[in-house]
Amino acid sequence: MENLKLNSYYDVIIVGSGPAGLGAAFKIAQSSKKKVLLIEKKKISSGGLRNDCKQNYTYPVGFPLEHWEKDEADILLKEVAGHLKPKMETRLNIDKYIKRAQKLNVEILAIDQAHVGTDKSSKLINGLIEQLKELGVTVSLETEVKELDGEKKELCLSDDSKIAFDNIILAPGRADYDWMQEQMNKLGVEYSDNIVDIGIRVEMKEENYPIVKDYYDPKILFPNKVRTFCTNSGCANIVREKYKGYYSVNGHSLSRDKKANNLVNFAMLKTIKLTQPVVSGQQFGKILGEMVMQLSGGSVIMQRVGDFRLGQRSKKETFNDDLYDFKPTLSNAVAADLSLSMPAKILRDIWSALKKLDSIVPGVLHPSTILYYPEIKTYSNKPQFINDNFMVKEGYYIIGDGAGTSRGITAAWASGIRASKDILK
Ligand SMILES: Cc1cc2nc3c(=O)[nH]c(=O)nc-3n(C[C@H](O)[C@H](O)[C@H](O)COP(=O)(O)OP(=O)(O)OC[C@H]3O[C@@H](n4cnc5c(N)ncnc54)[C@H](O)[C@@H]3O)c2cc1C
Repeated sequence: MENLKLNSYYDVIIVGSGPAGLGAAFKIAQSSKKKVLLIEKKKISSGGLRNDCKQNYTYPVGFPLEHWEKDEADILLKEVAGHLKPKMETRLNIDKYIKRAQKLNVEILAIDQAHVGTDKSSKLINGLIEQLKELGVTVSLETEVKELDGEKKELCLSDDSKIAFDNIILAPGRADYDWMQEQMNKLGVEYSDNIVDIGIRVEMKEENYPIVKDYYDPKILFPNKVRTFCTNSGCANIVREKYKGYYSVNGHSLSRDKKANNLVNFAMLKTIKLTQPVVSGQQFGKILGEMVMQLSGGSVIMQRVGDFRLGQRSKKETFNDDLYDFKPTLSNAVAADLSLSMPAKILRDIWSALKKLDSIVPGVLHPSTILYYPEIKTYSNKPQFINDNFMVKEGYYIIGDGAGTSRGITAAWASGIRASKDILK
């Protein structure tokens, strides 16, 4: 924990310094004299603000429709932009792609985006934290909230100290879904967690996916709830993220100042809504992730499209040869067989979407293209809210990706503004 003496009471405590927590902190600090404490267990926010930091400014990208109307989202997006000061990417010449997509029952969304890059995001975040401190917010980094008291309005930190509050906004993100579930159980808040996105990350040479020169992160929606997600180019890399019991792949890129590696990566995700008897999306994702751990000897797998088409596994010794002429950026992924590891329905729908994409942007399915698996987005526990501004119990709010009120940086920030407005009323 930082060497910071905390009070025993705050008017508002915000847990998590991701975009949802920051959005809430700014709104309250700029609109009232309330004593605000922002608590973050890491040295720096650990979600998408830190990693890559692509910001989408067009509804409905990132805004779950059950919580958001366009008019409100548009107003709040302006407020978000006021803080993040995005430098918008250009979007050019995409009509030809849109026309091709329409013929295949595929939709390309034209959206406004900005990209910071992993190498520059810390500067942005640290700047925001400094602004909050100047506004009078107490920011306690490297401080973990262990638990909430279900009876009193009080929380307990990992050093066992207790702090009371009038209102609390919980914004722990999706990685800490199990912690959030424990707290909701304590608070007596009902929730469901039946949605999960499962997919692959596709990596190819930029010359085989030239659309990125015109449109930084093309948002493409295919039939059967498959979509592209989080496209990275310039200096783009694939990474392995550790979850409890498995790894998920992810991608990010550095800012334009960095030397390009001429590769592109993006996720191809299928949304799965589970019904009885298996209702936990997080659990389903974990089972699939664990299976890959077993098959890969404790890592993630990758397969070249050339091998996949021939129905043969990729092998380490043949992996950088002839047509397979670029090195995978995730060097510890294990060359293997995708169809042995992935449920048939998911694989079928994603492969079908990739074939469509190859007709829209010819080249994606070049034999050298690499398919990494798994990319798992265990979205959210959906709490039962008791009002429209994400209150779950008098004085308790749960927001951001961990509560299903957002699916991205800008909507998470907007969720923070909305919960705060409720407190400020
Ligand atoms: C690798 C990666 C890259 C991404 N890239 C993008 C992108 O480019 N663009 C985009 O729009 N979205 C991206 N996302 C999604 C994005 O992260 C989320 O949509 C967004 O960050 C959600 O905001 P949040 O505030 O709800 O949660 P988070 O940003 O996850 O923040 C939650 C914070 O709460 C803290 N926390 C959790 N539990 C506790 C506790 N008990 N005590 C104290 N602190 C706690 C965590 O350490 C974390 O910093 C990415 C996600 C990941 C994982």
